[in-house]
Amino acid sequence: MEIQMKVILISVDNHTLGIQTVATMVAGSGGEPILFYLPSNLRRYPKAIEDGIMQVLRKITGEERSVLIGFHLKELSYSRAVQLVQAVRTEFGNRAILVAGGTYATSMKEELLSDFDHVVVGDGEGIIPIIKSMETCVSVSPMIESPPRMFRYPLYAEAHVLDENGQINRRHTRPLVHPQYKHRQNMEIMLESGCGYACSFCEVATLREMFGSAYRILQSDPVQSINIIREQLGLSPGIEYVYFFDEDFLLKSEEWISTFAAEYASIGLPFFIFATPRSISKGKRKLSALANVGLDTVNVGVQTGSPRIARDLFGRKEDRAEITDVLDVLTSLYRNGRVTSPPMTDWIILNPYEKKEDMSQTIKLMQDMPLPFNAVMHCMNFFRGTPLYKKALAEGVIPPEYRFRFDLHDFLNRVGANEFGLDFTSRSNLEWLKYNTILAGMKGLHTIKGATRYFGSINENDLPKYLETEMSIKEIAELAASFPNPMDECLFPWEQEHAHQQTKGGG
Ligand code: SF4
Repeated sequence: MEIQMKVILISVDNHTLGIQTVATMVAGSGGEPILFYLPSNLRRYPKAIEDGIMQVLRKITGEERSVLIGFHLKELSYSRAVQLVQAVRTEFGNRAILVAGGTYATSMKEELLSDFDHVVVGDGEGIIPIIKSMETCVSVSPMIESPPRMFRYPLYAEAHVLDENGQINRRHTRPLVHPQYKHRQNMEIMLESGCGYACSFCEVATLREMFGSAYRILQSDPVQSINIIREQLGLSPGIEYVYFFDEDFLLKSEEWISTFAAEYASIGLPFFIFATPRSISKGKRKLSALANVGLDTVNVGVQTGSPRIARDLFGRKEDRAEITDVLDVLTSLYRNGRVTSPPMTDWIILNPYEKKEDMSQTIKLMQDMPLPFNAVMHCMNFFRGTPLYKKALAEGVIPPEYRFRFDLHDFLNRVGANEFGLDFTSRSNLEWLKYNTILAGMKGLHTIKGATRYFGSINENDLPKYLETEMSIKEIAELAASFPNPMDECLFPWEQEHAHQQTKGGG
């Protein structure tokens, strides 16, 4: 039976692939999904924007007897999703069937049933029986849970987009702020889902725990993938790079990569991939094939230089020697002109499990790694449902009211809020804060300019000074404020005034 009813899919986030893959499933069943991309860095939409969104929804919904509205939920943006859920309930009452999906739905499941009519966990295909039940009036379980079983390509359709000026327009692309490419227009796509790692802080570990041996890494077809990329680029002139969002692009077989590279050669746009240290160690030939056709940046997670934290707390596979070797592979590609940007390395800071000694090992690792590389600092987040969240809650490292409230890069606001309730009259906690502040300052390019070695914003003369000096909390705060704030790059002008008000209000 073909789907007749209106299906509205909303992403309140910067990443949109979740609703795009669900849209493919709805379209595959004969439905016409209507997409909304409403990215923002604010906790709540300003009233005028909420009103604008509701106005468009009202127009689409018209006199329909019922309409399905699906939300792709993430923990950080949940407050915006709830804002819209409440507005939709007030406006449409029970005419709107509200469905929750996405990573936050996977973590929260039952808790969401007070706000949503259905929760889809795992495979987005769970939306289809809900739509059919609405059309046939045969009831279906409020919770639909199944492991992803096959790869789904995203649907690229014109969507209602909250744009860089705070206006809602119909268009194919949406604003994304990327740590490297800033506001440049991209095409985001995923050609494989799943990861070979199971880091304790990541939703992959939640899914692996939930589905056990049914968890799969799901792959696309390289030729079909290129056809989709070509089609989307044709529809959206102005795209400057392709952002592959696969958890680990190098997990694919050499045969897959070689077919893909042969086809991608005609696309001619630089591209960005994520990879893991282990897949890079094993995938040098794959990297070389990709470098031949436009590979620009490889983003690899290192997270910490402390073996205690990497292995025992995060459950990661690589050791220090493997990380250094991997950086050697990546920086050589850059130095030899095979790729256009230095590798991008991810690190986790503000981790309450780390001691000064762990952070010293991280700083030492960065000092020893081959150059140049970019360091991106992510503040520790305990995502609901992950093994690390459960451990930290059980051990009292995070309080029961802990919520992921600040952007991953928002070091200053997190420290200001003292998320972990630390007592900074204690010297060891002050040292923890000082080392984290130094690490925050090491964000950016690690390189040698002239005769000076730079560790992001810190030069080789200042680093030992900071490490050796005992600092007061005021001095640490001044040091933190002296480094560039990554959040300054994230907000669009329309968001800036509202962000200031929301921070002042402590929301
Ligand atoms: S390597 Fe990345 S995507 Fe894979 S489990 Fe770890 S954090 Fe998650």
